[in-house]
Amino acid sequence: MTALPPGSTIGILGGGQLGRMLAMAAAQLGYRCHIYAPPGDNVACEVAADCTIAEYDDLAALKAFADACDVVTFEFENVPVEPLRSIAHTVPIHPPIQALEVAQDRVEEKEFVRKLGGETAAFAVARSEIEVEDAVAVVGTPAILKTIRMGYDGKGQVRVSAQSDLASAWRRAGGQPLIAEAMVQFDAEFSVVLVRSADGEIRFWDSPRNAHENGILATSTLPAGPLIESQQASARVMAAAVADALEYVGVFTAEFFASGEGPLFNEIAPRVHNSGHWTIEGAETSQFENHIRAICGLPLGSTATIAERVEMQNLIGKDGERWLQLLGDPAANLHLYGKAEAREGRKIGHVTRLYR
Ligand code: AMP
Repeated sequence: MTALPPGSTIGILGGGQLGRMLAMAAAQLGYRCHIYAPPGDNVACEVAADCTIAEYDDLAALKAFADACDVVTFEFENVPVEPLRSIAHTVPIHPPIQALEVAQDRVEEKEFVRKLGGETAAFAVARSEIEVEDAVAVVGTPAILKTIRMGYDGKGQVRVSAQSDLASAWRRAGGQPLIAEAMVQFDAEFSVVLVRSADGEIRFWDSPRNAHENGILATSTLPAGPLIESQQASARVMAAAVADALEYVGVFTAEFFASGEGPLFNEIAPRVHNSGHWTIEGAETSQFENHIRAICGLPLGSTATIAERVEMQNLIGKDGERWLQLLGDPAANLHLYGKAEAREGRKIGHVTRLYR
Protein backbone atom coordinates (compact mmCIF):
# COMPACT_ATOMS: atom_id res chain seq x y z
CA MET A 1 0.00 0.00 0.00
CA THR A 2 1.53 3.33 -0.99
CA ALA A 3 1.56 6.03 1.66
CA LEU A 4 -1.15 8.67 1.32
CA PRO A 5 0.58 12.07 1.28
CA PRO A 6 -0.26 14.77 3.84
CA GLY A 7 -3.00 17.05 2.51
CA SER A 8 -5.07 14.03 1.40
CA THR A 9 -8.65 13.68 2.60
CA ILE A 10 -9.78 10.95 4.99
CA GLY A 11 -13.52 10.22 5.00
CA ILE A 12 -14.99 9.15 8.34
CA LEU A 13 -18.44 7.55 8.53
CA GLY A 14 -19.99 8.52 11.86
CA GLY A 15 -19.90 11.87 13.65
CA GLY A 16 -19.38 11.01 17.33
CA GLN A 17 -16.49 11.41 19.74
CA LEU A 18 -14.46 8.62 18.15
CA GLY A 19 -14.58 10.46 14.82
CA ARG A 20 -13.69 13.68 16.61
CA MET A 21 -10.57 12.15 18.17
CA LEU A 22 -9.64 10.43 14.88
CA ALA A 23 -9.93 13.77 13.06
CA MET A 24 -7.72 15.46 15.66
CA ALA A 25 -5.04 12.78 15.22
CA ALA A 26 -5.33 13.03 11.43
CA ALA A 27 -4.91 16.80 11.56
CA GLN A 28 -1.65 16.38 13.45
CA LEU A 29 -0.34 14.32 10.53
CA GLY A 30 -1.44 16.92 8.00
CA TYR A 31 -4.57 15.23 6.68
CA ARG A 32 -8.00 16.74 6.09
CA CYS A 33 -11.06 14.88 7.39
CA HIS A 34 -14.50 14.74 5.85
CA ILE A 35 -17.22 13.46 8.20
CA TYR A 36 -20.34 11.73 6.87
CA ALA A 37 -23.18 11.24 9.36
CA PRO A 38 -26.96 11.42 9.64
CA PRO A 39 -28.47 14.49 11.38
CA GLY A 40 -27.67 14.56 15.09
CA ASP A 41 -25.14 15.86 17.57
CA ASN A 42 -22.18 15.32 15.24
CA VAL A 43 -19.35 16.52 17.44
CA ALA A 44 -16.72 15.28 14.95
CA CYS A 45 -17.81 17.97 12.45
CA GLU A 46 -16.51 20.69 14.77
CA VAL A 47 -12.91 19.59 14.20
CA ALA A 48 -13.11 18.43 10.57
CA ALA A 49 -12.52 20.19 7.26
CA ASP A 50 -15.80 19.02 5.69
CA CYS A 51 -19.02 17.46 6.83
CA THR A 52 -21.84 15.80 4.91
CA ILE A 53 -25.07 15.39 6.85
CA ALA A 54 -27.10 12.68 5.15
CA GLU A 55 -28.56 9.26 5.84
CA TYR A 56 -26.23 6.28 5.33
CA ASP A 57 -28.46 4.94 2.57
CA ASP A 58 -28.52 8.20 0.58
CA LEU A 59 -26.54 6.78 -2.34
CA ALA A 60 -26.10 10.11 -4.16
CA ALA A 61 -24.68 11.82 -1.06
CA LEU A 62 -22.52 8.80 -0.30
CA LYS A 63 -21.10 8.78 -3.84
CA ALA A 64 -20.28 12.52 -3.70
CA PHE A 65 -18.56 11.89 -0.35
CA ALA A 66 -16.54 8.97 -1.76
CA ASP A 67 -15.48 11.11 -4.74
CA ALA A 68 -14.17 13.76 -2.35
CA CYS A 69 -12.09 11.34 -0.25
CA ASP A 70 -8.80 9.47 -0.76
CA VAL A 71 -9.61 6.79 1.82
CA VAL A 72 -12.74 6.06 3.85
CA THR A 73 -12.96 4.67 7.38
CA PHE A 74 -15.70 4.47 10.03
CA GLU A 75 -16.07 5.23 13.71
CA PHE A 76 -19.52 3.67 14.14
CA GLU A 77 -20.02 -0.05 13.78
CA ASN A 78 -23.67 0.04 12.79
CA VAL A 79 -23.10 1.80 9.47
CA PRO A 80 -25.29 -0.18 7.04
CA VAL A 81 -23.16 -2.38 4.84
CA GLU A 82 -25.11 -2.45 1.55
CA PRO A 83 -24.80 1.27 0.71
CA LEU A 84 -21.07 1.06 1.50
CA ARG A 85 -20.63 -1.60 -1.18
CA SER A 86 -21.77 0.95 -3.76
CA ILE A 87 -18.69 3.13 -3.11
CA ALA A 88 -16.16 0.33 -2.56
CA HIS A 89 -14.95 0.49 -6.18
CA THR A 90 -14.48 4.29 -6.00
CA VAL A 91 -12.36 4.65 -2.88
CA PRO A 92 -10.39 2.32 -0.57
CA ILE A 93 -12.37 1.47 2.59
CA HIS A 94 -10.43 0.46 5.72
CA PRO A 95 -11.17 -1.55 7.84
CA PRO A 96 -12.84 -3.97 5.40
CA ILE A 97 -16.61 -4.04 5.01
CA GLN A 98 -16.56 -7.69 6.11
CA ALA A 99 -15.38 -6.60 9.57
CA LEU A 100 -18.52 -4.47 9.90
CA GLU A 101 -20.70 -7.33 8.73
CA VAL A 102 -19.28 -9.72 11.31
CA ALA A 103 -19.44 -7.21 14.16
CA GLN A 104 -23.03 -6.19 13.38
CA ASP A 105 -24.43 -9.65 13.96
CA ARG A 106 -23.80 -11.28 17.35
CA VAL A 107 -24.38 -14.78 15.97
CA GLU A 108 -22.03 -14.34 13.02
CA GLU A 109 -19.48 -12.73 15.33
CA LYS A 110 -19.47 -15.59 17.83
CA GLU A 111 -19.39 -18.24 15.10
CA PHE A 112 -16.53 -16.46 13.33
CA VAL A 113 -14.51 -16.39 16.56
CA ARG A 114 -15.32 -20.01 17.44
CA LYS A 115 -14.25 -21.21 13.99
CA LEU A 116 -10.86 -19.65 14.67
CA GLY A 117 -10.54 -21.51 17.98
CA GLY A 118 -11.81 -18.78 20.32
CA GLU A 119 -14.11 -19.57 23.24
CA THR A 120 -17.34 -17.72 23.92
CA ALA A 121 -20.14 -18.01 26.49
CA ALA A 122 -22.79 -20.61 25.60
CA PHE A 123 -25.51 -19.02 23.48
CA ALA A 124 -28.71 -19.93 21.65
CA VAL A 125 -30.74 -18.00 19.09
CA ALA A 126 -34.40 -16.94 19.43
CA ARG A 127 -35.77 -15.42 16.23
CA SER A 128 -39.30 -15.01 17.60
CA GLU A 129 -40.99 -14.76 20.99
CA ILE A 130 -41.98 -18.43 21.09
CA GLU A 131 -38.33 -19.47 20.71
CA VAL A 132 -37.15 -17.54 23.78
CA GLU A 133 -38.07 -20.22 26.30
CA ASP A 134 -36.12 -22.91 24.43
CA ALA A 135 -33.12 -20.62 23.95
CA VAL A 136 -33.00 -19.81 27.66
CA ALA A 137 -33.37 -23.52 28.49
CA VAL A 138 -30.30 -24.29 26.34
CA VAL A 139 -28.02 -21.84 28.17
CA GLY A 140 -29.66 -22.07 31.62
CA THR A 141 -30.37 -19.24 34.07
CA PRO A 142 -29.29 -16.63 34.87
CA ALA A 143 -28.93 -15.55 31.24
CA ILE A 144 -28.65 -12.35 29.24
CA LEU A 145 -30.86 -11.71 26.24
CA LYS A 146 -29.14 -9.54 23.63
CA THR A 147 -30.53 -8.29 20.33
CA ILE A 148 -28.59 -9.90 17.49
CA ARG A 149 -28.19 -6.56 15.74
CA MET A 150 -27.78 -2.90 16.76
CA GLY A 151 -26.74 -3.44 20.38
CA TYR A 152 -24.07 -1.37 22.10
CA ASP A 153 -23.31 0.05 25.56
CA GLY A 154 -25.66 -2.48 27.14
CA LYS A 155 -28.62 -1.31 24.99
CA GLY A 156 -30.94 -4.07 23.81
CA GLN A 157 -29.88 -6.30 26.74
CA VAL A 158 -32.12 -7.87 29.37
CA ARG A 159 -31.03 -10.13 32.22
CA VAL A 160 -33.34 -13.02 33.03
CA SER A 161 -33.58 -15.48 35.92
CA ALA A 162 -35.53 -18.72 36.35
CA GLN A 163 -38.49 -16.64 37.62
CA SER A 164 -38.52 -14.08 34.79
CA ASP A 165 -41.51 -13.54 32.56
CA LEU A 166 -39.89 -14.29 29.19
CA ALA A 167 -42.65 -12.68 27.12
CA SER A 168 -42.00 -9.34 28.81
CA ALA A 169 -38.22 -9.89 28.56
CA TRP A 170 -38.60 -10.38 24.79
CA ARG A 171 -40.51 -7.09 24.56
CA ARG A 172 -38.01 -5.23 26.77
CA ALA A 173 -35.14 -6.47 24.59
CA GLY A 174 -36.83 -4.75 21.66
CA GLY A 175 -39.08 -7.51 20.33
CA GLN A 176 -36.58 -8.54 17.69
CA PRO A 177 -34.32 -11.56 17.04
CA LEU A 178 -31.98 -12.11 19.95
CA ILE A 179 -29.49 -14.47 21.47
CA ALA A 180 -29.73 -15.90 24.95
CA GLU A 181 -26.26 -15.92 26.45
CA ALA A 182 -25.19 -17.78 29.59
CA MET A 183 -24.27 -15.35 32.38
CA VAL A 184 -20.51 -15.56 32.77
CA GLN A 185 -19.16 -15.54 36.34
CA PHE A 186 -16.11 -13.52 35.40
CA ASP A 187 -13.50 -12.11 37.77
CA ALA A 188 -12.61 -9.18 35.53
CA GLU A 189 -13.09 -7.76 32.04
CA PHE A 190 -10.37 -6.65 29.67
CA SER A 191 -9.84 -5.73 26.04
CA VAL A 192 -7.19 -6.35 23.43
CA VAL A 193 -6.72 -3.25 21.30
CA LEU A 194 -4.44 -3.83 18.33
CA VAL A 195 -3.51 -2.11 15.11
CA ARG A 196 -2.91 -4.03 11.88
CA SER A 197 -1.25 -2.58 8.80
CA ALA A 198 -2.10 -3.49 5.20
CA ASP A 199 0.99 -5.71 5.04
CA GLY A 200 -0.15 -7.67 8.10
CA GLU A 201 2.04 -6.18 10.82
CA ILE A 202 0.23 -6.21 14.17
CA ARG A 203 1.02 -4.17 17.27
CA PHE A 204 -0.82 -4.47 20.59
CA TRP A 205 -1.36 -1.96 23.35
CA ASP A 206 -1.31 -3.29 26.91
CA SER A 207 -4.68 -4.71 27.89
CA PRO A 208 -6.44 -2.60 30.52
CA ARG A 209 -8.86 -3.87 33.15
CA ASN A 210 -12.27 -2.53 32.15
CA ALA A 211 -15.02 -1.90 34.68
CA HIS A 212 -18.59 -1.42 33.42
CA GLU A 213 -21.56 0.18 35.14
CA ASN A 214 -25.02 -0.47 33.70
CA GLY A 215 -23.41 -2.04 30.63
CA ILE A 216 -21.36 1.12 29.91
CA LEU A 217 -17.59 1.30 30.32
CA ALA A 218 -16.78 3.28 33.48
CA THR A 219 -12.99 2.90 33.84
CA SER A 220 -9.97 1.32 32.12
CA THR A 221 -6.95 0.75 34.34
CA LEU A 222 -3.34 -0.36 33.90
CA PRO A 223 -1.64 -2.40 35.21
CA ALA A 224 -4.57 -4.73 34.83
CA GLY A 225 -3.48 -7.15 37.59
CA PRO A 226 -2.09 -10.69 37.59
CA LEU A 227 -5.19 -12.53 36.31
CA ILE A 228 -5.58 -10.38 33.19
CA GLU A 229 -1.82 -10.24 32.65
CA SER A 230 -1.73 -14.04 32.66
CA GLN A 231 -4.51 -14.21 30.05
CA GLN A 232 -3.38 -11.38 27.82
CA ALA A 233 -1.15 -13.56 25.62
CA SER A 234 -3.84 -16.08 24.67
CA ALA A 235 -6.41 -13.31 24.18
CA ARG A 236 -3.97 -11.59 21.83
CA VAL A 237 -3.57 -14.76 19.79
CA MET A 238 -7.35 -14.95 19.44
CA ALA A 239 -7.76 -11.26 18.54
CA ALA A 240 -4.93 -11.41 16.01
CA ALA A 241 -6.42 -14.53 14.39
CA VAL A 242 -9.69 -12.65 13.86
CA ALA A 243 -7.92 -9.56 12.49
CA ASP A 244 -5.81 -11.70 10.13
CA ALA A 245 -8.84 -13.68 8.91
CA LEU A 246 -10.61 -10.41 8.09
CA GLU A 247 -7.48 -8.99 6.38
CA TYR A 248 -8.09 -6.10 8.69
CA VAL A 249 -6.46 -2.68 8.33
CA GLY A 250 -6.69 -0.21 11.23
CA VAL A 251 -7.41 -0.45 14.95
CA PHE A 252 -9.36 -3.50 16.06
CA THR A 253 -10.73 -4.27 19.53
CA ALA A 254 -11.76 -7.53 21.15
CA GLU A 255 -13.39 -7.63 24.59
CA PHE A 256 -12.87 -10.55 26.97
CA PHE A 257 -14.06 -11.92 30.29
CA ALA A 258 -11.28 -13.20 32.54
CA SER A 259 -12.02 -16.08 34.89
CA GLY A 260 -10.19 -19.07 36.32
CA GLU A 261 -10.97 -20.98 33.11
CA GLY A 262 -9.10 -18.60 30.82
CA PRO A 263 -10.17 -15.72 28.60
CA LEU A 264 -13.66 -15.90 27.17
CA PHE A 265 -14.34 -13.80 24.11
CA ASN A 266 -17.25 -11.33 24.50
CA GLU A 267 -17.40 -9.13 21.41
CA ILE A 268 -15.39 -7.29 18.79
CA ALA A 269 -15.41 -3.67 17.72
CA PRO A 270 -14.06 -3.00 14.21
CA ARG A 271 -12.84 0.44 15.24
CA VAL A 272 -11.02 2.50 17.81
CA HIS A 273 -12.50 1.80 21.23
CA ASN A 274 -13.38 3.54 24.47
CA SER A 275 -11.04 1.19 26.37
CA GLY A 276 -8.19 2.56 24.23
CA HIS A 277 -8.70 6.23 25.13
CA TRP A 278 -5.95 6.00 27.74
CA THR A 279 -3.43 5.60 24.88
CA ILE A 280 -3.68 9.33 24.00
CA GLU A 281 -1.48 10.22 26.96
CA GLY A 282 -0.49 6.77 28.24
CA ALA A 283 1.17 5.22 25.17
CA GLU A 284 3.89 6.31 22.77
CA THR A 285 1.35 6.35 19.93
CA SER A 286 -2.41 6.63 20.53
CA GLN A 287 -4.99 4.28 19.05
CA PHE A 288 -6.29 7.23 17.01
CA GLU A 289 -2.93 8.08 15.46
CA ASN A 290 -2.14 4.45 14.70
CA HIS A 291 -5.53 3.97 13.07
CA ILE A 292 -4.81 6.93 10.79
CA ARG A 293 -1.30 5.60 10.14
CA ALA A 294 -2.62 2.15 9.22
CA ILE A 295 -5.38 3.30 6.86
CA CYS A 296 -3.05 5.79 5.15
CA GLY A 297 -0.27 3.24 4.62
CA LEU A 298 2.20 4.93 6.99
CA PRO A 299 4.60 3.05 9.30
CA LEU A 300 2.90 2.09 12.58
CA GLY A 301 3.99 3.88 15.76
CA SER A 302 5.16 2.27 18.99
CA THR A 303 2.33 1.08 21.24
CA ALA A 304 4.46 0.98 24.42
CA THR A 305 2.88 2.24 27.66
CA ILE A 306 4.77 5.20 29.08
CA ALA A 307 3.59 5.25 32.71
CA GLU A 308 3.60 2.81 35.59
CA ARG A 309 -0.07 3.28 36.22
CA VAL A 310 -2.82 4.68 33.99
CA GLU A 311 -6.46 5.31 34.79
CA MET A 312 -9.07 6.36 32.26
CA GLN A 313 -12.44 7.37 33.65
CA ASN A 314 -15.46 8.08 31.47
CA LEU A 315 -17.54 11.17 32.17
CA ILE A 316 -21.13 10.09 31.72
CA GLY A 317 -24.20 12.33 31.84
CA LYS A 318 -23.90 14.81 34.69
CA ASP A 319 -20.24 13.83 35.42
CA GLY A 320 -19.37 16.42 32.78
CA GLU A 321 -20.41 19.18 35.21
CA ARG A 322 -17.18 18.52 37.12
CA TRP A 323 -15.03 19.89 34.27
CA LEU A 324 -13.75 22.95 36.12
CA GLN A 325 -12.87 20.95 39.22
CA LEU A 326 -11.10 18.33 37.08
CA LEU A 327 -9.01 21.00 35.42
CA GLY A 328 -7.72 21.90 38.89
CA ASP A 329 -6.25 18.40 39.29
CA PRO A 330 -2.72 18.47 37.84
CA ALA A 331 -2.80 14.71 37.20
CA ALA A 332 -5.99 14.85 35.14
CA ASN A 333 -5.96 15.05 31.34
CA LEU A 334 -9.46 16.20 30.51
CA HIS A 335 -11.20 15.44 27.20
CA LEU A 336 -14.64 16.89 26.55
CA TYR A 337 -16.53 15.87 23.44
CA GLY A 338 -18.55 19.06 22.92
CA LYS A 339 -21.93 17.35 23.19
CA ALA A 340 -24.94 19.65 23.27
CA GLU A 341 -26.86 17.66 25.84
CA ALA A 342 -25.65 15.68 28.89
CA ARG A 343 -28.37 13.02 28.77
CA GLU A 344 -28.22 10.20 31.32
CA GLY A 345 -25.99 7.37 30.10
CA ARG A 346 -24.37 9.57 27.44
CA LYS A 347 -20.58 9.75 27.18
CA ILE A 348 -19.67 13.44 27.58
CA GLY A 349 -15.91 13.12 27.92
CA HIS A 350 -13.16 11.24 29.73
CA VAL A 351 -10.25 11.88 32.08
CA THR A 352 -6.92 10.09 31.97
CA ARG A 353 -4.46 10.13 34.87
CA LEU A 354 -0.88 8.89 34.57
CA TYR A 355 1.26 7.92 37.54
CA ARG A 356 4.99 7.43 36.94
P1 AMP B 1 -21.74 -6.17 25.56
O1 AMP B 1 -22.57 -5.11 24.92
O2 AMP B 1 -22.00 -7.54 25.04
O3 AMP B 1 -20.28 -5.82 25.57
O4 AMP B 1 -22.15 -6.18 27.11
C1 AMP B 1 -21.94 -5.06 27.96
C2 AMP B 1 -21.49 -5.54 29.33
O5 AMP B 1 -22.50 -6.38 29.93
C3 AMP B 1 -20.24 -6.40 29.32
O6 AMP B 1 -19.07 -5.64 29.25
C4 AMP B 1 -20.40 -7.14 30.65
O7 AMP B 1 -20.06 -6.33 31.74
C5 AMP B 1 -21.87 -7.43 30.68
N1 AMP B 1 -22.13 -8.74 30.01
C6 AMP B 1 -22.38 -8.93 28.70
N2 AMP B 1 -22.53 -10.24 28.41
C7 AMP B 1 -22.35 -10.92 29.57
C8 AMP B 1 -22.37 -12.32 29.93
N3 AMP B 1 -22.64 -13.27 29.04
N4 AMP B 1 -22.15 -12.63 31.23
C9 AMP B 1 -21.91 -11.66 32.16
N5 AMP B 1 -21.89 -10.33 31.88
C10 AMP B 1 -22.09 -9.95 30.61
